[in-house]
Amino acid sequence: MNDSIRRAAAILLVMLGGAALWWVGKGAPAPASANDAMVAAIAAAREQAAANDPRLKGASRFEAGGWIYVHLEGDPGAVGYQHGYLLAPEIEDGFAAVSAGMMHATQRDWEFFRKAAHEMLWPKIDAEYQQELQGIVDGLRAHTGSKLDVDDLVAFNAFEELPDYYVPWLNKRQKAANAPNLKSPGNCSAFVATGSWTKDGQIVMAHNNWTNYRNGERWRIVFDIAPKNGYRMLMDGFPGVIASDDDFGINNNGLMVTETTITQFEGWDPNGKAEFVRARKALQYAGSIDEYTKIMLDGNNGGYANDWLLGDRKTGEIAQLELGLKAYKLWRTKDGVLAGSNWARDPKVLNADAPEFDPGNKESSPNTRRARWEELLTENKGKIDVALAEKMLGDHSDTAEKKEDADERTLCGHVDGSPRGVKEWDWQPYYPGGAVQGKATDSTMTKEMRIMARMGHPCGGDFLAKPFLAAHPEYTWQEPYLRDMKAGPWTEFRSGQTSKE
Ligand SMILES: [Zn+2]
Repeated sequence: MNDSIRRAAAILLVMLGGAALWWVGKGAPAPASANDAMVAAIAAAREQAAANDPRLKGASRFEAGGWIYVHLEGDPGAVGYQHGYLLAPEIEDGFAAVSAGMMHATQRDWEFFRKAAHEMLWPKIDAEYQQELQGIVDGLRAHTGSKLDVDDLVAFNAFEELPDYYVPWLNKRQKAANAPNLKSPGNCSAFVATGSWTKDGQIVMAHNNWTNYRNGERWRIVFDIAPKNGYRMLMDGFPGVIASDDDFGINNNGLMVTETTITQFEGWDPNGKAEFVRARKALQYAGSIDEYTKIMLDGNNGGYANDWLLGDRKTGEIAQLELGLKAYKLWRTKDGVLAGSNWARDPKVLNADAPEFDPGNKESSPNTRRARWEELLTENKGKIDVALAEKMLGDHSDTAEKKEDADERTLCGHVDGSPRGVKEWDWQPYYPGGAVQGKATDSTMTKEMRIMARMGHPCGGDFLAKPFLAAHPEYTWQEPYLRDMKAGPWTEFRSGQTSKE
């Protein structure tokens, strides 16, 4: 055979192979039973009907840079339905990982959380967010036939506040014997700067999300929401959750919002309004720092207590709202920088709401990162822009060791590399947690409703689950949920985007 005949024969073989596959395909997938066929037919009909649902009108989804971007619009029920439908597989997956973690940490069953959601949280949720949460359930069920109901979803939305704020408060009240050592989490490194601190004199805001890698690897949604009422929002978030929750978001009235949690915060008000509801409402309805503060204080339940870092691009003013339960404090300036790494600083808040926190311990994660923010931001005064902010979020300088060492004390956290863990929030040595993604924006970008976001460690490092679990069998319980967390590129997202152009 000469070459051309050999090539023709090869092509013919490929074509025959294709035809054979086509023929097998036509031969139907051969269901194991008539019942299976029926189930498949019903599922297909359900999906077809759901896809034609008028509530999906205007909604869209695409993936870029390791993120999933969804555009949601309309009345609360429609926004929820679109959310549930477009992110159905991710919600099911995220719910499984999160609920397993909630039960493991608290040693409480899922029914306990459903009851807390139904009896304590649900009655105080504004009607529009009740409708949105029900909409998520409807969209999710329409797409996948999921069995999750609205109590599951409310408990899931409260995954930051129920296990680490409500349960420790309850254990203390009930004097529960052998109660697990639950601590409010230390989530995130962030700053907001303005005036003479930034390159253009306008606001720059940046944040990296610290959490366990199990949840963090799933914290990959960019939500572009055009609600019927309130302002348009662009924020990062978790599938199935109505607030950003790690929190980074902007609205089209120029408000810029992020936060870091208050380490060793204690307290809960069962008569208050869930934090995830207040945080979402504040991003949707606040057009100023004062309005933001008012919404967060209204019904404050102490859940997921944060130092909120805010900016108003209309005025160039930035603010820090240190929101304890018994005390709070608001600082604001048009020329300065406000950083966060999980430490409260107001004496009243420290005394009333975080009495165990030691601001003098120079080796703890919150305080070493606080020192590094001061160093890094001061060094770069007048030069801070979004590109520099991105670099800062990936910083690995440990101020306790005075060297580069990615660990629990660096702005880009890698606690899986630390033999110390973080005792302040009960992360054991080599705990698989740290910085899981980063975001940054500035006043100009906010005016145009744009943010930069990087999935995975903001430094670009990868976390690989298999070698980690082999080296640390004490975390084997996480195996069904713990996945590789590979860093993507810094990627720009903007409101109204329809593909990764
Ligand atoms: Zn890093």
